[in-house]
Amino acid sequence: MTTGIRVTVWNEGLHEKELPQCREIYPNGMGRVIGAYLEKQPGIASVHCSELSDPDQGLSDDILEHTDVMTWWGHKAHDQVTDENARRVQKRVQQGMGLIAMHSGHMSKPFMLLMGTACNLKWREYGEHGEKERLWVVDPAHPIADGLPEYIELPNTEMYGEPFGIPRPDQLVFISWFQGGEVFRSGCCWHREAGKVFYFRPGHETFPIYHDELVLKVIYNAVKWAAPTRLAGGYTQGNVEPLEEMD
Ligand code: ZN
Repeated sequence: MTTGIRVTVWNEGLHEKELPQCREIYPNGMGRVIGAYLEKQPGIASVHCSELSDPDQGLSDDILEHTDVMTWWGHKAHDQVTDENARRVQKRVQQGMGLIAMHSGHMSKPFMLLMGTACNLKWREYGEHGEKERLWVVDPAHPIADGLPEYIELPNTEMYGEPFGIPRPDQLVFISWFQGGEVFRSGCCWHREAGKVFYFRPGHETFPIYHDELVLKVIYNAVKWAAPTRLAGGYTQGNVEPLEEMD
């Protein structure tokens, strides 16, 4: 039995090839930056980086079977992920795999399937530098907030604003404030059958968000939180043995 968490970092990987600004910040793709950080953290057994252009879109049964937690970054090609692959990810989550949807992953097929809502929001990309964001920790006792200051400040970001069309989160870890006045539920947790889902807002492709130590720390904390818990002997669904006698 493997000890430690097996992570798959799934990255769409298109902006890095097509947008010079993005390539400059992430020459090897943002997935590699996240993966390289996670690989060095205690309790992580392995990190596999998958991209949309990989065989089976990096989402084969074999990869999913060997993944405890998957992180997901996608933006412009959500519709290129096949329905079959999206459903396979959804099913694996319901069986226990953790999923961390990041930034524009709010409209990714697996996340939307798991939410069952349209997941819309408002956004503003303001000039070359964007605007300031503070992600306030609103649940200091939550494991995803472990070791963080009371807020994370990102000087240059794209704004995401409410209303965010998600089902009410089971737990809310961060609320963002933006310079333009909007607020946003930036760190949301859900349980979906045996699996856990975390949505984490930061990560616009033209800003160096995934080079920020605190953002990476949140992703690591979320990986640990979302790792599967297993009932000894599994669990039963469906018809069970009738009671023979009731006292
Ligand atoms: Zn963005």
